[in-house]
Parts: sequence; C-alpha cells; structure tokens
Amino acid sequence: MPQQDLSAGEPATHLTTTVERGSFAVARCSCGWSGPARRSRDTARTDARSHTSEP
Ligand SMILES: [Zn+2]
Repeated sequence: MPQQDLSAGEPATHLTTTVERGSFAVARCSCGWSGPARRSRDTARTDARSHTSEP
C-alpha cells in the first residue's frame, strides 16, 4: 500500500468550485488554491481541472 505524503498539510482531496465575482469567474479549491479571474466560467473550470491534475 503506497504511503501518502501529507507533510505539506494539504488535504487529501481537491474539491474545486467556481465563484463568480462581478463579470469574472474564479476557480477555488478546498486546499486554499484559487485561480486567476477569468471572463468565462468555462476557462475558470479549465483552471480548476489543471489544478487538480497537477502531480
Ligand atoms: Zn487544490
């Protein structure tokens, strides 16, 4: 069974959501990460997807 390294204090799961700020959308994660403000919610979702697929 592989051991998970949680020394960085990050939660084991990344739950991403998109938050709307005025005319912008920002991707946020349960680990505290947040993406740049995007004009399109689709782009914010892409940010969130690339965040969760990071190694
Ligand atoms: Zn995260």
